[in-house]
Amino acid sequence: MSSIVLLGSTGSIGVNTLLVAKRFGIGVEVLVCGKNIELLNEQIKEHHPKVVVIAEKVDVSKVNHPCVRYGQEAILEAIEEAESMLVVNALVGFLGLRPTLTAIACGKRIALANKESLVASGAFIDTSKIQPIDSEHFGLWYLLQERPVSKMIITASGGAFRDWPLEKLAHATLADTQKHPNWSMGQKITIDSATMVNKMFELLEARWLFGEGKNGVNKFDAIIETKSLIHALIDFKDGSTTAHFANASMQLPIAYALDKQMDENILAHVDLMKVGSLEFRKIEKERYPIWEIKEDLLKNPYLGVVVNAANEAAIEKFIAKEIGFMDISHKIIKAYEKFRDAPKSIDDVFAADKEVRSFVAR
Ligand code: NDP
Repeated sequence: MSSIVLLGSTGSIGVNTLLVAKRFGIGVEVLVCGKNIELLNEQIKEHHPKVVVIAEKVDVSKVNHPCVRYGQEAILEAIEEAESMLVVNALVGFLGLRPTLTAIACGKRIALANKESLVASGAFIDTSKIQPIDSEHFGLWYLLQERPVSKMIITASGGAFRDWPLEKLAHATLADTQKHPNWSMGQKITIDSATMVNKMFELLEARWLFGEGKNGVNKFDAIIETKSLIHALIDFKDGSTTAHFANASMQLPIAYALDKQMDENILAHVDLMKVGSLEFRKIEKERYPIWEIKEDLLKNPYLGVVVNAANEAAIEKFIAKEIGFMDISHKIIKAYEKFRDAPKSIDDVFAADKEVRSFVAR
């Protein structure tokens, strides 16, 4: 029986991954999570992992398992020691980068939901080892054929505030950011959807996964599709455009990431007669100020580490109610204007991450 190492098992992607793994009879060798020990204990009962890793020592005694470790180093050790050749990385944030690098260094394949790994360090990651768990990149991968491409387009829902009056945005609360119109996801990515940072991250991911040197594609863009039924489109050189339709569920990309030969039905088909019509909108800078730096960032993808670190630090401040919602984007743009040196090594990436965080914290 094949098996996986699952990082972030108690999160939105982690829980869906376990549902798919159970359905396909895939074993779970290692479970890694943070602080949700109650859910972890249920997962242990059902999936019988050999090793469990959690965030903090204080919680070790609450876990019903004979082999419990804690902390970030323990995550890396568990990956190194595991026999499983597939690591599902569903951790949230920059924390996920070292595990991605470790898994690749061990010769393992990565099913990558942790987009921050690619955003911060795409230049130093061997993307041939990665199967992305993101509906947009899954859509692009699904559509891609042997024909010359002129542009790849991904779609955004517009997040929680796409229909809010602009003048209300400055006063949006954390609870408001979590009212996503189409998807149920973890807290951070739902904030990133509201600021549109998530879509900028996905453009960068697309750039690293499909850009120059790979499929020769060098144009990437995003538009809003309000029902989240189309996830990606490809404009081919010949003038035709294809679109990937699927109902909003992460189980489809997860199923393919776990089993490339997938030949079963995972989701109900989109019923176009029920859908009736679709609406597309431009991503406006007034509502999503971060869009200001999109073109420049795509030309300088190495600076993803700056945007990622500034975003994580600004979100911390927003959650602590030290800054308002619109300040998240403003802080990222300030950091992006200040830090312009491209990292030349993975060590530079970690150094830049630290420096940018302390700049934003000040
Ligand atoms: P969640 O916040 O729901 O889950 C994050 C997971 O990481 C949880 O299991 C959490 O554990 C764990 N975690 C957090 N901190 C630590 C730590 N210090 N040590 C060990 N584990 C830790 O996030 P999502 O599942 O929504 O997203 C995960 C990643 O996937 C993100 O990068 C996101 O951008 C990406 N993604 C998510 C999609 C979605 O539909 N949700 C779609 C596409 C990409 P605990 O909860 O126990 O503290």
